[in-house]
Formats: sequence, C-alpha cells, structure tokens
Amino acid sequence: MKKIYNFSAGPAMLPIPVMKKAKKYFRNWKNTGSSVIEISHRSDYFVNFLEKMKKNLRLILNIPKDYKILFCQGGARGQFSAIPMNLLKKNKTADYICSGYWSQCAAEEAKKYCVPNIINIRNDSDKKKKIIPLNEWFSNEKISYVHYCPNETIEGIAIEEEPEINNYNDLIGDFSSTILSKKIEIQKYSVIYASAQKNIGPAGITLIIIKKSLLKKKKNNIPSILDYNIISHNKSMFNTPTTFSLYIAGLVFQWIINIGGIKNIEKKNLIKSKLLYNIIDKTGFYINNVEINNRSKLNIPFQIINPKLTEIFLQESFSQGLLYLKGHSLIGGLRASIYNAMPIQGVKKLVKFMKYFENKYG
Ligand SMILES: *Cc1c(COP(=O)(O)O)cnc(C)c1O
Repeated sequence: MKKIYNFSAGPAMLPIPVMKKAKKYFRNWKNTGSSVIEISHRSDYFVNFLEKMKKNLRLILNIPKDYKILFCQGGARGQFSAIPMNLLKKNKTADYICSGYWSQCAAEEAKKYCVPNIINIRNDSDKKKKIIPLNEWFSNEKISYVHYCPNETIEGIAIEEEPEINNYNDLIGDFSSTILSKKIEIQKYSVIYASAQKNIGPAGITLIIIKKSLLKKKKNNIPSILDYNIISHNKSMFNTPTTFSLYIAGLVFQWIINIGGIKNIEKKNLIKSKLLYNIIDKTGFYINNVEINNRSKLNIPFQIINPKLTEIFLQESFSQGLLYLKGHSLIGGLRASIYNAMPIQGVKKLVKFMKYFENKYG
C-alpha cells in the first residue's frame, strides 16, 4: 500500500500506534471477551481506564491540583453555549476577542445570553492578515469573562501570548485545534476547552479543564448535560459518554507520554511548520498571507499564485497519497493541517511534492 498522509483539519489523522493498539484489542478488551464499545461505562474496567487517562492528561499538560478535568459531549460548539450559561454573572456581560471564524462563532452564540463586547483584533488592511497586539486592550469589572481562541483553525491565525486580563475576570480559551501541541500556562485560565477531533482523538468528546473554584456557584437554569457542576459531580458520566472516543483519547495520551511528552511534540511541531512555511515563502509561487508572528503551527493555509492551478494541485497531490489539502470553503485555496499525529516524513513528502509541482507549472 502507498504511504498515505492525511492533512485533514478535523476529524484529523490519528497516530498509527494508537490505531494498531485499538485494532488489536478491539474484540477483546482487557481480557473481558468484549469490545470496549460493548462494555458498561459504569464497569470497573471503564471507570479505571478513565481515571488513568485523566491522570495521564494531568501529567502531560501539568494541570494543577485546583483544576478539574471534565469530559462532555456537544463539541466546541456545545461549549459556545455552556460557557455563557455557566459563567455569566448577574447583570454582567463578557468580552469576546475575535480573531477569526471560530472566535466569531463563539461570540454569535453568546448573543443568546448577553450582549457581548466584541473586540475585533484582526487587521487585514495591508494584505497580510495580522493580530492587533492584545496589550492595547484591557478587560474591566463590568464583565464576567474574556473569551478568545489561540488558534484559528480556518484562517491559520495564532495568538501565541495569553491576553492580559484583570484578576477579577475569568479567561476562557477555545483550544480545539491547539490543545496538546505545546505547553499551556493553565493557571492563567479559568476554563480551557477543546473538541477532540483535531489533536485528542475521534470526534464525540469535549475536554474541559476548569478551575475548581468555579464549580461552587450553582445555577439552575442550565440544561443538565451542559452544567459544569452536574458533569463534575457525576465524574463526566451524567449521561452515557462516547466511550470509544474516550478510549482512543486515552491511547493518544499514552502515546504522547511514550514519545517524550509535550516538550518533544512542541519541538516536532516547530520543525514541521518551518519546513512548510519555508517552501511557501521561497519563490512567490505559493502564498500564505498571515503576518509571520501570527502564523499557526498547526493549520497552514496557502494559495497558488495562479488560482487555476489549485484543482490540479489537489488532484495530483491526492494521487501521490497526500490527502485532503483543500482549503476551507470560506477562504478557498489550500490548507495543510499538521497536528501531532502528522509525522515529519509526511510534511517532507508534501514539501517535495510542492517543489515538483512548482517546477512543473511555475
Ligand atoms: C473545530 C473547531 C470548533 C468546532 O468544533 P465542533 O466539535 O465541531 O463543535 C470550534 N473551535 C475551533 C477553534 C475549532 O478548531
């Protein structure tokens, strides 16, 4: 079989050792004679597995003791509702820092619960998309929290530094496409959330890392399945969880530990993104129009100077085993998503193809 590399933005490729292990034990998990997808989430087998995978995650991300790890369903979009429902204080609103599609979506959803302050920090005026430095903006006491997205998956825009906020506000981050790709200063946040299908595992679970002190305040008008208190009280199993997604995520966490943890991952992600930006910037045949300091290391959108070549690029790359490089329909062009599971070899193969393609058509 030809070596296939999958550059999909999500659901995205998973580490091969993880899938091999899942396959090996699929029909007989832990010598139970049953598949992990056939076993009760209340069984000791599953409960113990979940405890262990949470422990591993705590280790990988160095999550402090005063934070809880929760899992629920509904994806990141579910959290777009859960955040305002759980965290808005009476007569207060929230600041939504908007840097692209997903942070804008979060702000739109929040409009159902408050009149959010929308802080547009994008500056696209001089052709290069860039972010206005966040220190030009300050949170204030009329708000409950500040929401932002450190990695805009569609536009390939990253905010590397956490926004400075006042200490009476909570900082919330949508880490869907950047979780587990580098170190996070967890203490700076009140809530970090991420849908799974980019860097954690299969779709279906949502990770929430929440400061324990926030769990004390009870509200009674929240749908139970999105209520942080109820999720926490029921150890992330208020309703039947997507056990298979949790299982695979657990294998992914183990894989991260086995290959040297976040430190090693971060190093590899830097190498991969450099390889790709280097070839993009080299001659002008390819273009990435994000300011250098705001370039994502995980989602790299690019265009060909002659847009007529885009379709040919997609066909030829696909036939070489380089899959799903089409850009998001909102911005067109091409996009390579290179999450943790993408090996350096995969990026090298793409770079080689890009050189070949440029020589042929440039
Ligand atoms: C993918 C993504 C989402 C949406 O996730 P769903 O699980 O589909 O709700 C939200 N925010 C970011 C940053 C994403 O990358």
